Amino acid sequence: MKRSLHTEIQRIVLLLLGLLLFGYFNGHLLITLLLGCLGYIAWGFIKIQQIYRWLDNGARGLPPEASGVWGDMSDSLYRLHKRVLRSHHNLRSLTIRIQKITDALSDGILILDRNRALEWWNPCAEHLLSLQSGDRYQPIVNLVREPHFVEFIQQQEFGEALEIRAPGSITRILACSAAAFGDDEVVLVVRDITRLRNLEEMRKEFVGNISHELRTPLTVISGYLENLTQMGDMLPEPVTRAMGQMGQQTKRMRSLADDLVMLSKLESLEQHAGKKVAPLEPMLEQIVTDAQALSEGKHQITLHGGKGLALRGKRSQLHSAISNLAFNAVRHNPDGCDIDIRVENNDSALHIDVRDNGIGIDPAHLPRLTERFYRVDASRTSSSGGTGLGLAIVKHVMLRHEGSLEIDSTLGKGSVFSCRFPKNRVVE
Ligand code: ADP
Repeated sequence: MKRSLHTEIQRIVLLLLGLLLFGYFNGHLLITLLLGCLGYIAWGFIKIQQIYRWLDNGARGLPPEASGVWGDMSDSLYRLHKRVLRSHHNLRSLTIRIQKITDALSDGILILDRNRALEWWNPCAEHLLSLQSGDRYQPIVNLVREPHFVEFIQQQEFGEALEIRAPGSITRILACSAAAFGDDEVVLVVRDITRLRNLEEMRKEFVGNISHELRTPLTVISGYLENLTQMGDMLPEPVTRAMGQMGQQTKRMRSLADDLVMLSKLESLEQHAGKKVAPLEPMLEQIVTDAQALSEGKHQITLHGGKGLALRGKRSQLHSAISNLAFNAVRHNPDGCDIDIRVENNDSALHIDVRDNGIGIDPAHLPRLTERFYRVDASRTSSSGGTGLGLAIVKHVMLRHEGSLEIDSTLGKGSVFSCRFPKNRVVE
């Protein structure tokens, strides 16, 4: 039992004894006891009053002087109050610190409630999204109306960041990423990536322009080389050999320039390829003929399906994508391999598969295969005759046609490169 309670019980016992004695001698035992108890209750009431008054005053200063249970109670309340004040102070310092950190950030941070209404944001978000203090508790879609963003922010689970134009600006580009937390609340991070995108645009433009400019001199050089090669008999043997090499390298540079121009065009076009109808059969037959010419009859190339079917999109891009796959199958596989171009049109999609039973690719390379200049075997770079851009071009063409490129390969057994087109692109 606590000491103060002990003292209080002693005090009550002594008071009762005193009252009993006094009542016994004055002959009014009951009245004396009753008055004594009332006095004790009144005294307790006064103590409670004093504590209340101290609490009402914000527990400022020392608690009221008291002994026994009352003293103990006011001391405990005093200590509790001090503790609350200390944690309040700590919490306040932490809040101020967090606010200073978020103020210093160069990324915009916004907290949205379960209805995607704005609860809080930092100064950078205010600047990037042109927010005002009156926007608090407004649904964010009232302020950022871009349809892709509206779709993005309504999701339950957030994946990759979304790029949007900043509201009220035609030049500023923002990357938005979000994460859900707590009671279906969302933290939205907004980053200004205008400079990055401009630099990327400049790089694309530079590569595109320089490749375009290189094509003319390369055409002139290869034209002269061709003329000179025709005079081969009149020239000494080492010169003829050197010219042959020069011709080959010029052709390679020309293909590289062509592929770079194509890739930069594909990258710079934001919208999807148009909806013009490109019949499949004549295009694939042409590709088979070209692949046979490249193979010089050393591979068995066959075409299955595609009759009466057509795709909506850009014919030149589709032709380039499928021919890149067919030429790869010829260039990267040994003589005698079978290459099969197959069209499969099912209920959900149309697939154009380019299948070979050649050398195959180690699965470790598959995720990086569509990167520019990525090659499985760097030592075969020049002998294969490719530019290293073929699969990057295929990937971009497929993206522009709302489709995808799927690659499946087994080392030593062969590969399947499958172009998947959505049904809305298929004309039957
Ligand atoms: P490249 O100009 O080298 O062909 P690509 O981007 O078209 O560039 O292809 C990337 C790499 O993928 C090639 O270097 C080759 O190693 C590998 N590859 C592509 N197609 C095939 C295939 N059908 N069989 C085996 N390897 C292939």
